[in-house]
Parts: sequence; C-alpha cells; structure tokens
Amino acid sequence: MSDLLKLSLVDAVKALTEKKFTSVELTKAYLAQMESKRALNAYVLETPGIALDQAKAADIRLQKGEGRTLEGIPLGIKDLFCTKGIRTTACSKILGNFIPPYESTVTQNLWDKGAVCLGKTNMDEFAMGSSNITSYFGPVENPWKRRSDPSFKLVPGGSSGGSASAVAASMAIAATASDTGGSIRQPAAFCGLVGIKPTYGLCSRWGMIAFASSLDQAGPLTRTVADAALMLQSMAGFDEKEATSLNVEIPNYLANLKADVKGLKIGIPLEYTDKLSPRIRTLLEDGMRWLKDAGAEIREISLKTTPYALPTYYIIAPAEASANLARYDGVRYGARVDGASLDDLYENTRTAGFGDEVKRRIMIGTYVLSAGYYDAYYIRAQKVRQLIVQDFARAFSDVDVILTPTTPTAAFGIDEKVTDPVAMYLNDIFTVTANMAGLPGMSVPAGLDDDGLPLGLQLIGPALSEQHLFNTAAVIEAAANFPVLGQKD
Ligand code: GLN
Repeated sequence: MSDLLKLSLVDAVKALTEKKFTSVELTKAYLAQMESKRALNAYVLETPGIALDQAKAADIRLQKGEGRTLEGIPLGIKDLFCTKGIRTTACSKILGNFIPPYESTVTQNLWDKGAVCLGKTNMDEFAMGSSNITSYFGPVENPWKRRSDPSFKLVPGGSSGGSASAVAASMAIAATASDTGGSIRQPAAFCGLVGIKPTYGLCSRWGMIAFASSLDQAGPLTRTVADAALMLQSMAGFDEKEATSLNVEIPNYLANLKADVKGLKIGIPLEYTDKLSPRIRTLLEDGMRWLKDAGAEIREISLKTTPYALPTYYIIAPAEASANLARYDGVRYGARVDGASLDDLYENTRTAGFGDEVKRRIMIGTYVLSAGYYDAYYIRAQKVRQLIVQDFARAFSDVDVILTPTTPTAAFGIDEKVTDPVAMYLNDIFTVTANMAGLPGMSVPAGLDDDGLPLGLQLIGPALSEQHLFNTAAVIEAAANFPVLGQKD
C-alpha cells in the first residue's frame, strides 16, 4: 500500500501545503486503492475524472500558496448527499438515474474548502438500516475480519457502511455520513473509526435526501479525532436555505483540540450498563479508567427513559419517513413504472422502486399517523421524546459528558440478522437517544473484541458541546492506542 494512504487527513493537509507531494499524486493513490478494493462494494459510483480535475485545480492553488483548509484532499461522499451533475440515489432503485441539478450545502462547503470528490459511497436504502444490506447496490463488506475466520464476511454497519468501509480500507481519507439513529456512530464502531453526529442543526440538511427530518444530521467518518474535528468544522455552518439550521459561529475545533479532561464530570448511565456483555463491560471500564487517570471525575447517573427510546424512535422515524418518501411517485424523480391510471402508475412505481425495509417503514409510519392511531402512537411517542429531552437536561446539570458503549456487539456477519428486523433495530439501542434529544454523539475506537474486531465508546454531550467531545475523545484515543492508520491494507 502506498505510504500516501497511511497519512491522516490533518497530516495530508500539512504535507500538501509543504509541497511534499501533489494532490494529483495523493488522489491517484486513492483511486488505485479504490480499484484494488472494489470487491468491498464501498462505492456505488466512482468519479475519477472529476477527482483528477479537482486535484489539478487544487495543485495550482497550492503551488501559489493559496490552499484552503481542505485543498486537494480526496473524500468519499455518502450517496445521500445531492451532488450537482453526479448521480445520487440514496441507494434506492426508485431514484433511478437521478442527477441533481443542485449541490447539498454540506458538500458545497467541502468543495469551497478545496476538497476532491472520489465518488459516492454505498449506504442502506434511504439510510434505513444498521448493516448496509438494504442497499439496492448490494451489501458492503467490512475490511476487518474475525481472527478465527478471516474468510467470513462482516457488515461495516449502517447506514453509512460504504463511507465507513472506504475510510477503514484507505479508499478515502475521510468521508461524509449521516445519522438518524446511529448511522455515523455504529459504522464507526464496527470499522474502527471516529464518527461524530453533531448537535441537530449544526450541519445543514439542505440537499441531503430526507429520511426522518427531525432526527437526520450529517457528520464525518475519519481515522482520527483531529481529522473529525477538521472535517466537522468544514462541513458545518449556518444555511439560510434550511429552516432548522443553527445560526451559530462554528468554532475551530482543531485549533482548540487538546486531550484534556481535567475537572470534567463524566456520567455513566446505569440504564446503559445493566445488560452489557462481559467484553463490552470491560471496554466501558477501560474508558472510565482512562478518563479518570486523565483527571476527570466519574459519576453514576440515571437516564430513566432510556428503555423507551428505541420503541419511540421506531414510531417517529417511520412516521417522518412515510411523509418524506411520499414524494417518490414516479412523476417527478427517478424511476417510473407506467400504469393504466395515475393511481396504478404510483402503485407500480413504488412497488418496484422501494426495497422491503423501506416498505416496512412506510407501512409502520402510515399506520401510526392514521386517524384513530395518531393519538395512541405518534402523539404519545412525541411526549416520550420530550421526556427523553428532559432526562438528558437533568443529567447535564450534573455532568459534562456521558460515556457509554457505542454498540452492544462488534460487527456481525452479512447474512446474520437479515430475517429478524427487530434484532437489527436493537443495534441502535445506545445511539438513538442522542438523535431523539438533538444532542451531539461521537464514537471513538477503544479496543478490539476477543476475535480482533473493533469496538467503540460513545460520548454524548449537551447541545453545542462538540469541543468537549473532541477533547474527551482525544484522551480515549491516546489511551486506547487503537491501530487505525494503514491497518487494513
Ligand atoms: N439503524 C437505524 C435505522 O435503521 C438508524 C439509521 C440511521 O441513523 N440513518 O433507522
């Protein structure tokens, strides 16, 4: 593997600025790796022509000393972000060959800082899933393997599985992702990466294909905490085109990054710890010890509404999805299957265009929003959501950051859990709460399981506490000494 692929994003930015190599050289190294790792199915569209054009333009700027913060840096883009002139499908058949006439704000922010687009990454259809197996383009493979059975194919997690596999296998230096109930953090944990879902509203949702609008947030998948800091500050920012965009100054997380938790109070919620497997329990205990050794105070806390978060999520998310996905009718976008009447056209298009999981969510969502069930399910779920918000607010009057495992297990097999949607939903047990409350949540690699697979620890903070999360994650990163860079070649 080329040494260029072993650099972190932050180091690559520095080396490009110092003219140690060019963006074209770096981009070509990534394009070659994408070709050699194509079997992982991490990309659904490679854009080498665009990448090399952008890299050449970046080199001209770098040559003149006019490089911007991500000048010449090759990234993978989740196929959920609309990219002007580049096919965008959310990995659904129903979007067919949709070529957006506009650019999402998050990707525009990245291009404005000089980033290079390697291609669009695979994902669960409309971001519904935890394994990437619901993609119309087929499953993605995790580059990590069980020691006991290296030929057994594992999922990279989902829904941002293509982005995670791409970064873990050095097919992108970093990637964009999105998280509605855990889709940044869970793949980060499964692939040994750093992933942050920021405070709701920090990244604009404009031009992101909607799943559940009150929960969706964009964020990065990277190999290091410093890379995540740089990526997030490059993606985020107020957007007047988006009604829920936060009008706040985005701090320079990278410049302020220091592995320092002295005096911070770290909460361990009882409700997240009572049924952990022995290995996940020791992982959490490692995390507590590392933070304590670095000067933090560890406190037990209680988040009593935790058991209700997942069932509530699976009412609210499908409800919003059923409304958002009503727009795919065969008339305005993507694929169409004709019919004798307009109703037939809708029915034929949606029957052929959506996969099973998406249909399941539309059915659940339509049911919980229907007259007669609306009060019993949807309104009740909204009330529980408010209790979850209050629970966190209470907890954060006592502690600064909450520490939990990211997932209950390491990556599972591509063929496991396929037939049991509820077992699949349980993957998100630790991650959905942050989306329900709009809070920032981050996963940082913390260790390996007994079979050599990555495990992550999750940090949750109050709204806009991203800097605390980065600084806390940096302590875990240093203590865990996790083998990230150049590991999976
Ligand atoms: N796995 C969860 C779901 O299927 C979360 C997905 C996501 O965050 N996009 O809904």
